[in-house]
This record gives sequence, C-alpha cells and structure tokens, in this order.
Amino acid sequence: MRALRLLEWKSDPEPVEVAEPEPGPGQVVVKVGGAGACHSDLHLMRDLDGDTLPWGPPFTLGHENAGWVHAVGDGVRGVEVGEPVAVYGPWGCGVCVRCQAGAENYCENPAEAPVPGGGGGLGLDGGMAEYLLVPSGRFLVPLPDGLDPVDAAPLTDAGLTPYHAVRRSWAKLPPGAAAVVIGTGGLGHLAVQILKATTAARVIAVDTREEARELAVSHGADLALPSDGTTAGAVRDATGGRGADVVLDFVGVDATLATAAAAARTLGDVTIVGIGGGTLPVSFFSVPYEVSIQTTYWGSRPELAEVLDLAARGLLRPQVTRYPLERAADAYRDMEAGRLEGRAVIVPG
Ligand SMILES: [Zn+2]
Ligand SMILES: [Zn+2]
Repeated sequence: MRALRLLEWKSDPEPVEVAEPEPGPGQVVVKVGGAGACHSDLHLMRDLDGDTLPWGPPFTLGHENAGWVHAVGDGVRGVEVGEPVAVYGPWGCGVCVRCQAGAENYCENPAEAPVPGGGGGLGLDGGMAEYLLVPSGRFLVPLPDGLDPVDAAPLTDAGLTPYHAVRRSWAKLPPGAAAVVIGTGGLGHLAVQILKATTAARVIAVDTREEARELAVSHGADLALPSDGTTAGAVRDATGGRGADVVLDFVGVDATLATAAAAARTLGDVTIVGIGGGTLPVSFFSVPYEVSIQTTYWGSRPELAEVLDLAARGLLRPQVTRYPLERAADAYRDMEAGRLEGRAVIVPG
C-alpha cells in the first residue's frame, strides 16, 4: 500500500510503498477514511532533529484518524469488522492512574506505552496510508450515526484539543462571560463552535487573516478582531473594560501571548494551546490578579466521545478540504502559505 512517510528529520515526507499491516494479539487494523494534516506535522518536518524526542523517523504521518475496522487480532472484544471508528491519538500505557481515567495524553508511564509520549503518526506509523495498525482496541471510539470518517478524522485532534481546553474552563464561562479565541484556523474555528455549543459566553475571534476571521464569524463568533497591538484594548472595549474571562491562544508566539495576558480579566484563564514556542513573562505586576496561566496537550478518551457526539448532532462542523494521498504535499504547502480554510484531510482511498 502507499503511505506518506517521514523518512528523516528536516525533510519533506514522501509517498512510498509499504507492506499492509496485520493485527497481532490485542491489535486492530483500521481502513483509513481520512487522516487530518496538522500544523504540528510541519514542526516534525522542519524543526526537530536528533534526540529532541524519544522517537524519530522513519514513520508514516497522520495522527488524526478515522475509518472502518478492517481486521481484528486475537483477544480484541467489542469491535466489529466494518464498524466506523475514530482513533484516539495519544497512545499511553493504559494502566497508570492517568490512563485509567482516559487521559492517556498525560500517561505517567510512557516507557510502557506503544511509543514513549507518541502514537500513530508520532513515532509509530500513522493514518496517511490505506491501513493503520492500532495497538489496542481501547484506542477506538465508535462513530455515532451520520458522522463521516473524513469529517471525524480532524475531530480526534483539531476538535479534541480545543474541546479539552474549553471544557476545563467551563466554570469561568457563565452567561455574561466573554471568551477570546486567538488563531481561528484548524483548531480555532472548532474552538469557536465548541464555546458556542457548550457555554453561554460571548465569543471573540482574533486572527491576522481576514478569511480566518470570516470563517470564525460564519461558525458563530460574536465579534472578530484583527491580531495586532490594538487587540487587547479592543477586547476590553468590547467587554465594558473588564477583559475576557477565558483566553485560548492557538498560536502561542510572543505577540499572541502578550495579547492574551493583556486581554484577560481578573480571575480569568489564559490557556496556551499553540506550540508557537513564545514566552510570556509572569510577575505579580504583569497579569491581572488571580489570572491562571496554563498549557494543555490534546484531550482524553471520554472527551473524544463527547466531541463526536457534538459533531453527530450538527453542533460541531469541521471545515474540511480533502486531498488525495498523492497530493498530501500540497496540503502542507497550502497550510504553510496560510491558504487553507479550516482543516486539510488526506483521503487515502
Ligand atoms: Zn496535531
Ligand atoms: Zn499511562
């Protein structure tokens, strides 16, 4: 079968021929319906090298996957061939306290995981191929009726990651609250919808690109602002001078972090999701009182089931552009050039 593989650090991935996987005991092979192309894949191709991570190339890209169960190994129960499934992406050890709670994104025993701190498309072979080997049936979440695997694929990361970030701040988003989403691309346009579907907060979208602001408004943002030195002041103007109860930064560079801190309200949350690598100086005087600043990484298995439920009910609609496997390089080029609306999904079949 064809697979889009990262063969070495600091290189573009290449479509190559590989053997079809077969499931060992406890494992499942999924016929891939769609594999989302993620901004972090660019990070894998451009920035990493050597021993930065406990894993490395060669491996097949694609950590946002959904499809149909194709073959089931010995001992796997409750999974039927042909069943549509989403694949939970962060593959933990399955037995530590975090994994038992479904938060395999924060596995505390990574040495016992299928790959330390990674998953399919992150050290092990991912979904940008006809078939994907999933090391355990517990990583599969059945798709609710009416949800197409191509639409479901990006929900496993571009949906799950903002869902987790929003969910942990629910208590700070009662009616009358305001939430700011900085960066309304692949993850951010879903964050806007998740905020609208699960809270009563006003949603303010912030992006440098006009098209991304329009996308956010078309998905329910109450207000869209350009991202520049005036943004925090504009957020305060729009909130009676108070600032935003929750700011979610899906970019994470110095400038957006500074905006996030300056736009936050006392007692608010600033959540850094984007891996832009910027820094935010925090001191007694630099942020409003009792603002909590945190990072998040991906989400939990139960949260993925909740995201899929929102999508099946039409409350979460990923904007998807499809690319065949042979044109995957174009997907990343379009992403890099800022030409992409929403999420690119590679369709191998
Ligand atoms: Zn990702
Ligand atoms: Zn674990």
